[in-house]
Amino acid sequence: MLSISNTTVKYSGEVPFTIDPISQKNYSELNIITHAHSDHIKISKNGRYNAFIAHPATIELLKQGLDFDANFIPSEYNKPIKLNGNTITLLNSGHILGSSAVLVENDKTRFAITGDINTTETNVSRPIKPIEDLDFMIIESTYGLEKYQFPKRPEGYTQINNWVKQAIRNNKMPVIITHRLGKTQEIVKELNKSNFGYIALPTETLDSNEVYNLYGKKLKNMLPLEEVRDANCVVLPPSKYNQEMINYISFISGKRADYLHVTGHNLKNCVNLSSHSDYKGLLDFIGTSKPKMVYTYHGHTDGLSRGIEKELGIKSKAADEINTNTL
Ligand SMILES: [Zn+2]
Ligand SMILES: [Zn+2]
Repeated sequence: MLSISNTTVKYSGEVPFTIDPISQKNYSELNIITHAHSDHIKISKNGRYNAFIAHPATIELLKQGLDFDANFIPSEYNKPIKLNGNTITLLNSGHILGSSAVLVENDKTRFAITGDINTTETNVSRPIKPIEDLDFMIIESTYGLEKYQFPKRPEGYTQINNWVKQAIRNNKMPVIITHRLGKTQEIVKELNKSNFGYIALPTETLDSNEVYNLYGKKLKNMLPLEEVRDANCVVLPPSKYNQEMINYISFISGKRADYLHVTGHNLKNCVNLSSHSDYKGLLDFIGTSKPKMVYTYHGHTDGLSRGIEKELGIKSKAADEINTNTL
């Protein structure tokens, strides 16, 4: 039996496990973490002796927010782990560094839980590949509505580059507001390519970027925010974007700040660049994977299910409980 609530998937087979428990009450002895975003995993101090399987990069990213040791078990992509009756394999899901889809195989069934996915190649990540021969797929549904259609990556990069260039020309300090893990690194990489000089970032972001560099992403020209005077650009997560921060950046840099949001949401005056697939990307991925059945979770579940049935002719429904014994 699989039960699903928002991002958390609980499997109650012979060896029970939980994927992405976001609170200790959801922990199993064995847990699998799809990626390091905080809406997918919370490692609590009291629960740290439970086992947490994740890609090594995810573990590195998670460790940075912890002041205690947890029982992490690293697992590389495409390396099956045997757990009594189940074989579990992590697969690249293309969302952020270390992000994984989870393939589960036993003698009754073969299914996959995608975690958050991106079907688009970016300058720091490779897209998820189709997962074939599945009895069923459980797919995340963020942006699973037809209205979500994102521009091609190079188009988004050009928009960001042009905006930064213009701000610098106007003697302003360009400040890009975007998610700390995933898009920030993509933007830093792009600004590096365009030789915009130094980029100021909060300490937590610099720490995350170091992990990206451990995995060969070659991000450079980065400074802590305190040294924004020597930078030509700033990248901030939404949590740090407030009046106090605006004043601080202007005060230290001696320049007025100009702001640009980079997100997947259809906000006004923003660049659409997402670490998730858009609607078409999700349908293409499902269409090439050809599972017998698709359950949707985490996001626009009903809308995506309708789209899968209508566009692909594959049976689909929003998931809360799946009885794996009857498959
Ligand atoms: Zn995520
Ligand atoms: Zn998510």
